[in-house]
Amino acid sequence: MLIVGAGWGGIQYAVRMIQAGIPAQKIQIIDPAATSICPFSEQRDMYLGIDIPAVRRFSTGVLNRPKLPGVPGILDYRGEMFHTSCWAYDITGGSPKDPSLDKLNNKTVAIIGTRASSVQVVPQLTRWCKHLYVIQQTPAAVDIRDQRGTDERWFKEEVDRCEGWQRERMKNFNEHFTLGDPPSLNLVDDQWTRAPSLVGIAGNSNGPKLPSEIVAYTSKLIKIDTPRQNRIRAQVDKQVKGPVTAEKLKPWYPSFCKRPLFHDDYLATFNKDNVVGNEEYKADIIICATGYRSPSTETHAGKANLAMIGKNGVSMSTEWPRQSGLGGNYAFTLGEYAKHAAYILSEAKRQANGKPFAVAPTAEAAENWAQLVLMNSAAMAVIVGCTLGYYNLEGELALLPVEYQAIAAWSTLWGTGMEDWLDVIEKWRAVGRMDGIEVRI
Ligand SMILES: Cc1cc2nc3c(=O)[nH]c(=O)nc-3n(C[C@H](O)[C@H](O)[C@H](O)COP(=O)(O)OP(=O)(O)OC[C@H]3O[C@@H](n4cnc5c(N)ncnc54)[C@H](O)[C@@H]3O)c2cc1C
Repeated sequence: MLIVGAGWGGIQYAVRMIQAGIPAQKIQIIDPAATSICPFSEQRDMYLGIDIPAVRRFSTGVLNRPKLPGVPGILDYRGEMFHTSCWAYDITGGSPKDPSLDKLNNKTVAIIGTRASSVQVVPQLTRWCKHLYVIQQTPAAVDIRDQRGTDERWFKEEVDRCEGWQRERMKNFNEHFTLGDPPSLNLVDDQWTRAPSLVGIAGNSNGPKLPSEIVAYTSKLIKIDTPRQNRIRAQVDKQVKGPVTAEKLKPWYPSFCKRPLFHDDYLATFNKDNVVGNEEYKADIIICATGYRSPSTETHAGKANLAMIGKNGVSMSTEWPRQSGLGGNYAFTLGEYAKHAAYILSEAKRQANGKPFAVAPTAEAAENWAQLVLMNSAAMAVIVGCTLGYYNLEGELALLPVEYQAIAAWSTLWGTGMEDWLDVIEKWRAVGRMDGIEVRI
């Protein structure tokens, strides 16, 4: 078995395949990142030739195509420039093991972007550089992180007390994204579980069923979200001394429009003398914290820069259904994919009884699944009108011609939420008939 990509997903696939009976020595994982600091440049021209009968599993990442800012004239810039995903230690100093960015001491740095990467990078940069310009399109909504240590005794006695504890906690976590009452016991007790309106991106079994219900649903989400965003804006006033800067750092969009962020030092960084605002900027170094191409713009094959051609010339790029549940914890989703794939593989192996085999969904099953996704898609429509971000393809979803809107709905996430998606696939496995899957021997 060949697993392409050794991130969270690749590792979880390997573990689940071993549990499903594939001997560990028959599993190979390949990943160019093992030999390169910046995998993106290396993988672009990678050719994968496989000439042995094998099972291939692609787990090449979801946010893996760095996006550069579309600033006119940026290519004429003569200073140093790099993307956060490909950190240039030769420019900043330090190394993956040493966080001292000592080459920045006399440098003026401009960082473009204020999302998940920037929120982590900005507080570090201000410790080292002479001046830092933070260039933002939309302010980040940064909640407190409030990280706590894990008490080992508590963990052993209260958490790791029976098999299935992690699934129980994840269920509890997922159930906090709700329009109704969250579970009375909060097993995870972090800031994600205090953001119920994230149901807007995680899906909701009580969400709208018809397009005509979407506006009322969006209003409801905004109503339950407003206390949280008010609290975040109040945090800005509390932590940022200059009122003009504070105003610029306040997010005026609902929590479900962008990935929620948590950091205890980011906002206070803007009180430092070396963080400056101006109309014109001169910088020695530009760091692009400008994120990644939206996961929904490409299939897994496309994201890995690979053409995946199946039987009868069917291409993954045209046929792959992208739909699944989404929770705040994508690593968990990947684990569930892995569990499902391992089940299908072990069942197919059992049916093949030692002979070579190929597994594929029937065309009818793929169509039925797509219809189910479409029927549940109204709940995901709230992101269309959101402020620009990768969730809504930087606003382009709203501009799609009507005929493409149905295709977009077909490709959206599972609209009735993670637990509902798990329920559907777990019940399918429990039936044990592999309905809709063809095992060709
Ligand atoms: C800044 C940032 C913050 C994030 N925070 C969170 C978070 O808090 N929680 C969360 O759940 N998720 C978060 N994510 C999403 C995160 O990407 C995933 O959770 C996780 O890394 C996905 O695991 P993966 O195995 O699918 O992909 P990755 O971890 O990206 O691994 C994919 C691997 O595939 C390799 N690869 C790519 N193409 C090829 C090829 N052609 N051949 C061989 N190998 C290839 C890559 O080198 C890479 O090592 C964050 C992402 C970013 C960028």
